[in-house]
Amino acid sequence: MTALVAWMTGLSGAGKSTIAEKTAALLEEMGNKVLVLDGDAVRSKISPALGFTREDILENDRRLISLCLEAVSDYDVILVPKISPFKEQRAVTRQNLGEGFVEVYVRASIETVSTRDPKGLYKDSREGRLKGLIGVAPEVPYEPPESPELVLDTETSDPDSCARTLCDHLLAWRS
Ligand code: ADP
Repeated sequence: MTALVAWMTGLSGAGKSTIAEKTAALLEEMGNKVLVLDGDAVRSKISPALGFTREDILENDRRLISLCLEAVSDYDVILVPKISPFKEQRAVTRQNLGEGFVEVYVRASIETVSTRDPKGLYKDSREGRLKGLIGVAPEVPYEPPESPELVLDTETSDPDSCARTLCDHLLAWRS
Protein backbone atom coordinates (compact mmCIF):
# COMPACT_ATOMS: atom_id res chain seq x y z
CA MET A 1 0.00 0.00 0.00
CA THR A 2 1.29 3.45 -0.91
CA ALA A 3 -0.21 6.53 0.69
CA LEU A 4 -2.12 9.15 -1.21
CA VAL A 5 -0.37 12.46 -0.68
CA ALA A 6 -2.79 15.41 -0.62
CA TRP A 7 -0.64 18.46 -1.28
CA MET A 8 -2.78 21.31 0.04
CA THR A 9 -1.66 24.57 -1.52
CA GLY A 10 -3.04 28.06 -0.90
CA LEU A 11 -2.24 31.43 0.63
CA SER A 12 -1.35 31.73 4.29
CA GLY A 13 -4.66 31.90 6.15
CA ALA A 14 -6.61 30.15 3.38
CA GLY A 15 -7.51 27.32 5.77
CA LYS A 16 -5.07 24.55 4.87
CA SER A 17 -4.07 23.53 8.41
CA THR A 18 -7.61 23.80 9.76
CA ILE A 19 -8.99 21.59 6.99
CA ALA A 20 -6.07 19.14 7.20
CA GLU A 21 -6.68 18.54 10.92
CA LYS A 22 -10.41 18.01 10.39
CA THR A 23 -9.84 15.74 7.40
CA ALA A 24 -7.29 13.69 9.35
CA ALA A 25 -9.83 13.21 12.16
CA LEU A 26 -12.53 12.06 9.72
CA LEU A 27 -10.21 9.64 7.93
CA GLU A 28 -8.87 8.24 11.21
CA GLU A 29 -12.40 7.64 12.49
CA MET A 30 -12.87 5.43 9.45
CA GLY A 31 -9.76 3.43 10.31
CA ASN A 32 -7.23 5.05 8.00
CA LYS A 33 -3.65 5.69 9.02
CA VAL A 34 -3.02 9.39 8.45
CA LEU A 35 0.05 11.60 8.72
CA VAL A 36 -0.18 15.40 8.65
CA LEU A 37 3.03 17.12 7.61
CA ASP A 38 2.17 20.74 8.31
CA GLY A 39 4.42 23.05 6.31
CA ASP A 40 5.19 25.46 9.15
CA ALA A 41 5.81 22.82 11.82
CA VAL A 42 7.93 20.61 9.58
CA ARG A 43 9.93 23.56 8.28
CA SER A 44 11.05 24.53 11.77
CA LYS A 45 12.35 20.98 12.26
CA ILE A 46 13.98 20.17 8.92
CA SER A 47 14.96 23.62 7.66
CA PRO A 48 15.48 25.88 10.69
CA ALA A 49 18.15 27.90 8.91
CA LEU A 50 16.18 28.52 5.72
CA GLY A 51 14.21 31.68 4.93
CA PHE A 52 11.55 32.43 2.35
CA THR A 53 13.52 33.32 -0.74
CA ARG A 54 12.62 31.31 -3.83
CA GLU A 55 15.75 29.16 -3.40
CA ASP A 56 15.08 28.46 0.26
CA ILE A 57 11.45 27.55 -0.44
CA LEU A 58 12.58 25.10 -3.12
CA GLU A 59 15.22 23.54 -0.85
CA ASN A 60 12.72 23.12 1.97
CA ASP A 61 10.42 21.39 -0.52
CA ARG A 62 13.10 18.93 -1.55
CA ARG A 63 13.51 17.96 2.10
CA LEU A 64 9.76 17.66 2.59
CA ILE A 65 9.39 15.45 -0.50
CA SER A 66 12.06 13.12 0.94
CA LEU A 67 10.10 12.93 4.19
CA CYS A 68 6.93 12.04 2.28
CA LEU A 69 8.72 9.36 0.30
CA GLU A 70 10.07 7.83 3.50
CA ALA A 71 6.54 7.71 4.95
CA VAL A 72 4.40 6.57 1.99
CA SER A 73 4.62 2.88 2.78
CA ASP A 74 3.52 3.39 6.41
CA TYR A 75 0.32 5.42 5.86
CA ASP A 76 -2.94 5.41 3.89
CA VAL A 77 -3.03 9.18 3.52
CA ILE A 78 -0.45 11.92 4.02
CA LEU A 79 -1.83 15.46 4.20
CA VAL A 80 0.61 18.27 3.46
CA PRO A 81 -0.86 21.70 4.21
CA LYS A 82 1.76 24.02 2.81
CA ILE A 83 1.61 27.28 0.83
CA SER A 84 3.73 25.91 -2.06
CA PRO A 85 3.45 29.11 -4.09
CA PHE A 86 5.25 28.11 -7.27
CA LYS A 87 3.70 26.16 -10.12
CA GLU A 88 7.03 24.75 -11.19
CA GLN A 89 7.73 23.55 -7.66
CA ARG A 90 4.37 21.76 -7.49
CA ALA A 91 5.04 20.12 -10.86
CA VAL A 92 8.35 18.80 -9.54
CA THR A 93 6.59 17.54 -6.42
CA ARG A 94 4.00 15.78 -8.57
CA GLN A 95 6.77 14.10 -10.56
CA ASN A 96 8.64 13.00 -7.46
CA LEU A 97 5.63 11.66 -5.63
CA GLY A 98 4.15 9.91 -8.64
CA GLU A 99 0.68 8.37 -8.84
CA GLY A 100 -0.39 9.06 -5.28
CA PHE A 101 -0.04 12.83 -5.62
CA VAL A 102 -3.29 14.79 -5.27
CA GLU A 103 -3.09 18.56 -5.66
CA VAL A 104 -5.69 20.35 -3.56
CA TYR A 105 -6.12 24.08 -3.99
CA VAL A 106 -7.40 25.66 -0.77
CA ARG A 107 -8.73 28.87 -2.23
CA ALA A 108 -9.39 32.23 -0.62
CA SER A 109 -8.61 35.64 -2.06
CA ILE A 110 -5.82 37.83 -0.77
CA GLU A 111 -8.50 40.23 0.57
CA THR A 112 -10.12 37.43 2.58
CA VAL A 113 -6.90 36.05 4.03
CA SER A 114 -5.70 39.56 4.90
CA THR A 115 -8.88 40.05 6.90
CA ARG A 116 -8.75 36.62 8.61
CA ASP A 117 -5.01 37.00 9.27
CA PRO A 118 -4.87 34.22 11.93
CA LYS A 119 -1.11 34.65 12.41
CA GLY A 120 -0.97 38.43 12.06
CA LEU A 121 1.35 38.12 9.06
CA TYR A 122 -0.61 40.41 6.74
CA LYS A 123 -0.73 43.11 9.39
CA ASP A 124 3.01 42.75 9.97
CA SER A 125 3.55 43.03 6.22
CA ARG A 126 1.32 46.13 5.89
CA GLU A 127 3.11 47.79 8.77
CA GLY A 128 6.56 46.99 7.39
CA ARG A 129 7.67 44.48 10.05
CA LEU A 130 7.63 41.55 7.64
CA LYS A 131 9.29 41.60 4.24
CA GLY A 132 8.71 39.08 1.46
CA LEU A 133 5.31 37.73 2.49
CA ILE A 134 4.15 35.19 -0.10
CA GLY A 135 1.28 36.54 -2.20
CA VAL A 136 1.95 40.12 -1.12
CA ALA A 137 5.60 40.85 -1.93
CA PRO A 138 6.21 41.15 -5.68
CA GLU A 139 9.26 38.87 -5.53
CA VAL A 140 7.26 35.92 -4.13
CA PRO A 141 3.89 35.83 -5.90
CA TYR A 142 1.44 33.01 -5.21
CA GLU A 143 0.79 31.14 -8.45
CA PRO A 144 -2.62 29.42 -8.24
CA PRO A 145 -2.89 25.89 -9.66
CA GLU A 146 -4.43 25.68 -13.13
CA SER A 147 -5.79 22.15 -12.96
CA PRO A 148 -5.68 20.83 -9.40
CA GLU A 149 -7.42 17.54 -8.64
CA LEU A 150 -9.65 19.39 -6.17
CA VAL A 151 -10.53 23.00 -5.27
CA LEU A 152 -11.80 23.80 -1.77
CA ASP A 153 -13.20 27.31 -1.76
CA THR A 154 -13.07 28.46 1.85
CA GLU A 155 -15.01 31.64 1.08
CA THR A 156 -18.10 29.69 0.14
CA SER A 157 -17.77 26.49 2.22
CA ASP A 158 -17.13 26.18 5.93
CA PRO A 159 -14.20 24.17 7.37
CA ASP A 160 -16.29 21.06 8.15
CA SER A 161 -17.77 20.81 4.70
CA CYS A 162 -14.35 21.40 3.09
CA ALA A 163 -12.98 18.55 5.22
CA ARG A 164 -15.85 16.25 4.23
CA THR A 165 -15.30 17.08 0.55
CA LEU A 166 -11.59 16.32 0.80
CA CYS A 167 -12.22 13.13 2.75
CA ASP A 168 -14.78 11.91 0.16
CA HIS A 169 -12.47 12.80 -2.69
CA LEU A 170 -9.56 10.86 -1.20
CA LEU A 171 -11.69 7.82 -0.44
CA ALA A 172 -13.08 7.85 -3.99
CA TRP A 173 -9.57 8.21 -5.39
CA ARG A 174 -8.41 5.24 -3.37
CA SER A 175 -11.20 2.90 -4.49
P1 ADP B 1 -3.35 28.13 6.58
O1 ADP B 1 -2.95 26.80 7.12
O2 ADP B 1 -3.87 28.06 5.16
O3 ADP B 1 -2.33 29.21 6.77
P2 ADP B 1 -5.08 28.22 8.86
O4 ADP B 1 -5.87 26.94 8.79
O5 ADP B 1 -3.91 28.29 9.78
O6 ADP B 1 -4.65 28.62 7.36
O7 ADP B 1 -6.03 29.43 9.22
C1 ADP B 1 -7.24 29.67 8.51
C2 ADP B 1 -8.14 30.55 9.36
O8 ADP B 1 -9.33 30.82 8.61
C3 ADP B 1 -8.55 29.87 10.65
O9 ADP B 1 -8.62 30.87 11.65
C4 ADP B 1 -9.94 29.32 10.29
O10 ADP B 1 -10.76 29.18 11.42
C5 ADP B 1 -10.47 30.40 9.34
N1 ADP B 1 -11.46 29.92 8.37
C6 ADP B 1 -12.58 30.59 8.03
N2 ADP B 1 -13.30 29.92 7.11
C7 ADP B 1 -12.62 28.79 6.85
C8 ADP B 1 -12.86 27.68 5.99
N3 ADP B 1 -13.96 27.60 5.23
N4 ADP B 1 -11.95 26.69 5.95
C9 ADP B 1 -10.84 26.76 6.73
N5 ADP B 1 -10.55 27.78 7.57
C10 ADP B 1 -11.43 28.80 7.64
